[in-house]
Amino acid sequence: MIQVNARATFNPEGPFKLTTIERRELQPHDVLIEIKYAGICHSDIHTARGEWGPVKYPLVPGHEIAGIVSQVGAEVTKYAVGDRVGVGCMVDSCGECSSCHKGEEQYCLHGNTGTYGSTDRHGHYTQGGYSTHIVVTESFVVRIPDNIPLDAAAPLLCAGITTYSPLHHWEAGPGKKVAVVGLGGLGHMAVKIAHAMGAEVTVLSQSLKKKEDGLQLGADHYYATSDPETFKQLAGSFDLIINTVSAQINIDAYLSLLALDGTLVNVGAPADPLAVNVFSLIGQRRTFAGSMIGGIRETQEMLDFCAEHNIASEIEVIAASQIDEAWERVLASDVRYRFVIDISTMEQA
Ligand SMILES: [Zn+2]
Ligand SMILES: [Zn+2]
Repeated sequence: MIQVNARATFNPEGPFKLTTIERRELQPHDVLIEIKYAGICHSDIHTARGEWGPVKYPLVPGHEIAGIVSQVGAEVTKYAVGDRVGVGCMVDSCGECSSCHKGEEQYCLHGNTGTYGSTDRHGHYTQGGYSTHIVVTESFVVRIPDNIPLDAAAPLLCAGITTYSPLHHWEAGPGKKVAVVGLGGLGHMAVKIAHAMGAEVTVLSQSLKKKEDGLQLGADHYYATSDPETFKQLAGSFDLIINTVSAQINIDAYLSLLALDGTLVNVGAPADPLAVNVFSLIGQRRTFAGSMIGGIRETQEMLDFCAEHNIASEIEVIAASQIDEAWERVLASDVRYRFVIDISTMEQA
């Protein structure tokens, strides 16, 4: 086993402490990555606090990983030492089911292996990117194009692909009206990507506090959902709505904003069921859908798309010693728009 430094939480309440974890010895198709930056995703917090089911401690979260290949297994063909690479929310899947055959490994019928908090096919409990190194099979590693800085690239591996995938699947583009609900880590990427795809983009946020930001990120319009007039004014107007909010919202009110054949896609995952009045769907042949991250091929396509359009995440880089504080700020929605840990600070007090 390879011993590496990491920041782990030892119980649901934290705090994070510097510790040593083990990575497996390189198998023939494995790549050893020296992690440079790791993004902080809201789901790190849900998972580490046991809100999405039991986890084992110590737990090292982090599934927005950007780094450099530092060693390759004997049969690796895709990557070489020195390559700029990324790892997202999953590190393996069965490779044999119909979803895997379609390149939609996130929907593996046998369950994909999460980057942290999962048991992998080698029988090891996976640990994530708040760490100096990770070992991943080459087919779950993606290439980060040269013109995207590694720190701003890290959040693309979750926030980027989570929003790119539904925008691509439901064909956001010229002539399409797309609304993004919530302007946080996911929402700000949805705005940038939908704008780059050529769609007319509207942000639907609780207040107008971030209006200037939203327009700067590429939104054409910005409305406050706390104002009931918004729902009257925008009724029946969107082809696609991406809901990034994981809190309870009035789904019927948002469905009423869709045009004929419009789709409301949830990428946020509220813990409790949402109520839907079927009349909101059948009147205009509307769809209420969900989407989860994206496959490996699509993740590479998203990175290449971002490189081509010169987009990446808006980030605030922090030291490893500031993770606890950053988590509190994520919970208070006090981040524009993603915290990224500078892994070179791992050993600092
Ligand atoms: Zn995430
Ligand atoms: Zn599978």
